[in-house]
Order: sequence, then structure tokens, then C-alpha cells
Amino acid sequence: RYIFAPVALVLFGIVAIFLLTIPTEDLTEPPECMYGIVLDAGSSHTAMYIYKWPADKQNGTGVVTQHSECHPKGGGISSYVGQQGAAGRSLQVCLDQAMQDIPRARHHLTPVYLGATAGMRLLNISSPVQSAQVLQEVGHKIQSYPFNYQGAAILSGQEEGAYGWVTVNYLLENFIKYGFVGRWLSPGRQTVGALDFGGASTQITFVTKDEVEDERDRMKLRLYGHDYSLYTHSFLCYGRDQVLKRLLAHLVTAQGHTGTVAHPCFPAGYSVTMKLGTLFDSPCTVAQTPSYSYNPQATLSVKGTGDYDHCLGNITEIFSFHSCPFSQCSFDKVFQPNVSGSFMAFSAFFYIHQFLQTTTGIPVTTPAQLEEAAHSICNMSINEMLVLAPDQEPRLQDFCAASVFTKVLFTRGYGFDEISFPHISFQKKAGDASVGWALGYMLSLSSLLPGESVGLRKALKP
Ligand code: AMP
Repeated sequence: RYIFAPVALVLFGIVAIFLLTIPTEDLTEPPECMYGIVLDAGSSHTAMYIYKWPADKQNGTGVVTQHSECHPKGGGISSYVGQQGAAGRSLQVCLDQAMQDIPRARHHLTPVYLGATAGMRLLNISSPVQSAQVLQEVGHKIQSYPFNYQGAAILSGQEEGAYGWVTVNYLLENFIKYGFVGRWLSPGRQTVGALDFGGASTQITFVTKDEVEDERDRMKLRLYGHDYSLYTHSFLCYGRDQVLKRLLAHLVTAQGHTGTVAHPCFPAGYSVTMKLGTLFDSPCTVAQTPSYSYNPQATLSVKGTGDYDHCLGNITEIFSFHSCPFSQCSFDKVFQPNVSGSFMAFSAFFYIHQFLQTTTGIPVTTPAQLEEAAHSICNMSINEMLVLAPDQEPRLQDFCAASVFTKVLFTRGYGFDEISFPHISFQKKAGDASVGWALGYMLSLSSLLPGESVGLRKALKP
């Protein structure tokens, strides 16, 4: 017995030394990654997101993370219409970056998707031929790279809303967690609604227990073995840039196009001139084109008056709050059940919220605070704004209108009140990933949501 102890100790020592000398490289090296690329062809600009996930693990929430992103200079692909080759060239910087960001051995295994949203939906309305040409051109450009091309498509508003909701809840790990015992466990959490404010459309998507009276706004998803009943609606022409355009068109119509128009949402001391034709070149404003003596080449001069009450009045007029063919509506005869639960507001909502908080110092967590902050912004002259936020110079004149619009949309439109508004979190990122429809799109189209789920694509088909 007394001999056994030292012998065991010596043996233990030998084994320990042996284990320590084994090269541990294989154990510490990260598992090989798979990659996927999404080109988010928005109305105002294109962004590229590269995602990655461990090659041996595909199904858990949180397994797919963002590897890198790219935001090239210039406008959205629809803005290059009529310029042969320009839409394709606009993707080059990001695709070249992807060649560097992704290990060469993985290039041909990397799926690449291009999804276009409301800018291309609008072009498809005004000129389907040109819209098809732009899509074909960007498709050709992507195929000149060694990645695994999966297509270039225009997302419907419903898809855009639903994929945004999938992204938000995937990143928050609200769907499912992979349990220690090797089984999928429901985290028992409520999902979070998604509020997206793009350049040409805005989307609202949330789970509801209520009946969705208009089937076009209803979506049933089965993800990770769970059924989700979603309400989703996309408002075309209610994106930030189109709202600004519609507001100005409304002011021109209301004041008569005398060549000069007073703009109550532009700050005092700010003025701009433009060609009248640039205002009525969109399907969102074309119906308001002045009916007689209209000269698209004529110069329109716009002068800011910084008047909150008139700004609010005019913005309210670009919505239609009367007549609802359902038991209740948000606006424009669109059915909406009562909002419920928490929400994440992203894209331009995030920028507006951040600007309001930083320049006014007012925490914007209630409708009353949103109104107070918007009021304060609308009362600032352009010079006051320049002192407070010099880095935002090209956009300063638009924050009053965008803030007042957000207030009317959230409160009168969607019906957020003092109780529900504080449950909206304004975010650009969740963890390291950008919040938008891109991640949800890739997860759904590349079967990265678990096998037992019904793919979103399938669920979306009527
Ligand atoms: P995007 O999500 O890039 O399509 O942008 C949606 C809207 O947000 C567009 O109207 C952009 O002009 C606007 N936007 C983008 N970046 C900013 C920013 N830093 N501050 C304010 N608005 C922005």
C-alpha cells in the first residue's frame, strides 16, 4: 500500500508530461467556417453583408454571425437606370472586398444573394423593362466572381417585413436555444416586433393573437417546430426619401407652384432650388403633378420657415386616416391589429432617434418626449443645427420632417401610446450584426433555419 502511492504519483506525472507535450494546435484552432453574402440593394444605397458559421454547426440560433460589411459610395441600383453598366459597377468595390474577406478556398462554396427592395419595386412600377435590365446587369456582375450565385430578386413588401422580423428574433435568440443535453429547447421568450424605415418603404411586423382581417397582411411561419402567426405590412412610398418628396409635392400643390414655396419643416435660414421635374418623377408623387402649365425644367425655390405646427399639419395630410373597410386600421385603409409586446425599430428610425436624443438632450422613450424633441428640432435654425451636429450637414434640413413623420406614424398610425411606446428599442445593431432583412433572407434561403422548420419561402407562397 505504501509503495503504491509513490508509483501512482510517478505514473500520473509521466502521463501529465506526455499530455502536455502533445501539440494542442488542433484543439485550439477554430473550426472551419462557411460563409454567405447578401447584397442589400436598397433604394438609397447598396450594402453588402458577409455572414459566417461553423461548418459543422448549422442549426442553432446565434450560430450565424456577421463577418464583415461594406457600404459603397453612390446611390441604390435603381438610381443608375439608363446608365449602361453603372448598376453593376456600383457593386464592384464590395465584391472585391468579399474576395479578400473570405478565404480563397471557400469562395466557390459561398452563396451570394442580391435582394432589392422598394427602390426597385418603384422602378418596376414605372418601367418594368428597365427594372429587369438593372436586375440582369447586377446578376451578370455578381456571376463574374467565383462565388456561388443564388440569384438577384426584388423582395415583396411582405417578404421584406418578415425577413426583418426573422433577423431581429434570430439575433436576440428568441426562437430556440440548443440545450446542453443536445436538444432544441424553447427559450420560452416572447418574440419582438420589427419596425423598419427604409428610403422608399416602411414595414411593421409582429406576432399577434388577434385575427388578421386582411389575408395579405397575414403570415404563418413554422420555425424550429413552433408556429408563429405574424401581422406584416409594408407601406410603399412611406420610406424616408419618398415621404420627404411627397411632403414637398404636397406643399407645391397646396401653395400653387409659383416658383417659390415655403417649407414649414425646413429650418429657418435654409433654402434650396431644384428642377420641378425631379419632384414628380416618382410613382409616389406622379399623381400630384400639376395639371396645367407644368414645366418640368422650371426652377422651384424652397425656403424653410421652421414652423412645427404647420409641419405637423402638412405631414398629417400625407396620411389618410379616414374610412376603414375593416374593424380597425392603421391608415390608408390598411388593417392592423393592436400592437403588442416589444419592438425593435431600425434603419432610418435608429438614425432619427439617435439624432433627436443627442442634439436635444431629451431621452426619447415616450410619445410626449418624441413630440417635445421633434418640436425642439423644428424650432432650430440651420445654423443652430450646424453647431450641434456638424457631421450630419447634408441631412440636417430633413430631421424635422422625419421626426414629425415618425411621431405621426407611431402614434396616430400604428397606435403606440404611453404604455406601449417605451417597449420600442431603437437599434442599428444587435451584437455585432446589423439589423435589417438581409440575415433573415440568407438564413431562410440557405436552409440555415433547422430542418424541421418550414422554409420562409414556402410559407410566403400563397
Ligand atoms: P437605408 O436603410 O440605407 O436604405 O437608409 C434608409 C434611410 O435612412 C434613407 O433615407 C437614408 O438616407 C437614411 N440614412 C442613412 N444613413 C443615415 C444617417 N447616418 N443619418 C440619417 N439618415 C440616414
